[in-house]
Amino acid sequence: MEQYKYLIVGGGMAGDSAIKGIRKVDSKGRICIICAEADPPYDRPPLTKALWTGKKSLKAIWRKTPKRRVDLHLSCVAQKIDPSKKLVYDDKGDVYQYEKLLLTTGGTPRHLPNDLPEIMYYRTVEDYRKLRKLAEESIEFCVIGGGFIGSEIAAALTMEHKSVTMIFPESGICGRVFPEKLSHFLSSFYSKKGVKILPNTSVSSMEKRNDGIHVHIGVGQDLRFGAVIAGLGITPNTELAQNAGLKVENGIVVDRFLRTSDPDIFAAGDVANFENPHLNKRLRVEHEDNANVMGERAGRNMAGDLMMYDHLPFFYSDLFELGYEAVGELDSRLQTVVDWKEEFREGVLYYMDQGRIRGVLLWNVWDQVDSARELIAKKKVYKPNDLISLLPKPQLDA
Ligand SMILES: Cc1cc2nc3c(=O)[nH]c(=O)nc-3n(C[C@H](O)[C@H](O)[C@H](O)COP(=O)(O)OP(=O)(O)OC[C@H]3O[C@@H](n4cnc5c(N)ncnc54)[C@H](O)[C@@H]3O)c2cc1C
Repeated sequence: MEQYKYLIVGGGMAGDSAIKGIRKVDSKGRICIICAEADPPYDRPPLTKALWTGKKSLKAIWRKTPKRRVDLHLSCVAQKIDPSKKLVYDDKGDVYQYEKLLLTTGGTPRHLPNDLPEIMYYRTVEDYRKLRKLAEESIEFCVIGGGFIGSEIAAALTMEHKSVTMIFPESGICGRVFPEKLSHFLSSFYSKKGVKILPNTSVSSMEKRNDGIHVHIGVGQDLRFGAVIAGLGITPNTELAQNAGLKVENGIVVDRFLRTSDPDIFAAGDVANFENPHLNKRLRVEHEDNANVMGERAGRNMAGDLMMYDHLPFFYSDLFELGYEAVGELDSRLQTVVDWKEEFREGVLYYMDQGRIRGVLLWNVWDQVDSARELIAKKKVYKPNDLISLLPKPQLDA
């Protein structure tokens, strides 16, 4: 049985960032990371963006994990935690003893009810490798889901001159996040780029036949594709924590110091449900900045440099030549105030609840994330007109 001061289950961006955090405080303590994937930790966002636009090569996505003096157990699944003995058991029959344990198990893509083994639920670098191969063939692609992953993959494949059809139940692209007008603009923008858009549409069943994958929509409509990619969101991987008796509720519940209901077990990243003081609510965030900052904080906290996690994460996306950064709560059910410099091309959108800013969308507006964070943190009550021209703030060195 191997003994570790720090054991991490999950080798994604949060797990890797935790190692960085630990090493800032403790240069010697033994660290082990157990990861189900065969690849060492890497950045996921380029899988739908920079690897397709040519801004990054596959070589550039890998994290520096192996250089941080850590035992890396890949293709290895943690199956059970025994918190009373501080042991973790893996699927190869190995047992690990820990002093501090971190769970960064992320999430599993949601599957369609009528699933087929051929459907690609895009999440890993292995999925990227498969899709790259498929993109070399002359086939038609179907993307199911109009959220972050669906919209980015559809753009990436279209830029590769592939024929792409998007199917999603909302009335416009990213309809759960953007107000209706912006979401409808995006749908027509995608159409102009050549993507066939099928909004307000659900897949009723799918079939694999000799001539491809048949996707059935509505009543009796049958569409045929060479490949189908689905982006339907994720469910947090909480089973391990739940079976160990840790508190789980839409993710693994952690306190402000990222400790679970067992003080020697921490959680971070997509799987963690944490309290955010700026929004006065519990959140579970599925974005890179949260995985990086929270992972590093968890690592430092495990190593004894205990501080609260009070970061308000941001996220971003690229949709063809359009792009944005966003902070806080972006929910299309909230009231929005729009401040366009040029409609749908450049501007700031505020997501409001009872006059307070809950989220800010910076649409082709850059270097304003910290200013947006400050506005949310102020918790001031605004009238819609007060928000016009509030951002962007001039940069000091501009
Ligand atoms: C294609 C793609 C593009 C994205 N683009 C953006 C973007 O543009 N902007 C943005 O802000 N965010 C983006 N995200 C989201 C961001 O990548 C995630 O928030 C981040 O990866 C979460 O990191 P994590 O370490 O918490 O979880 P994950 O990255 O999911 O890593 C969890 C790891 O744990 C492993 N694991 C799970 N259970 C076990 C177990 N029992 N034993 C061993 N290993 C286990 C999994 O195999 C996985 O490797 C994107 C995500 C994807 C998939």
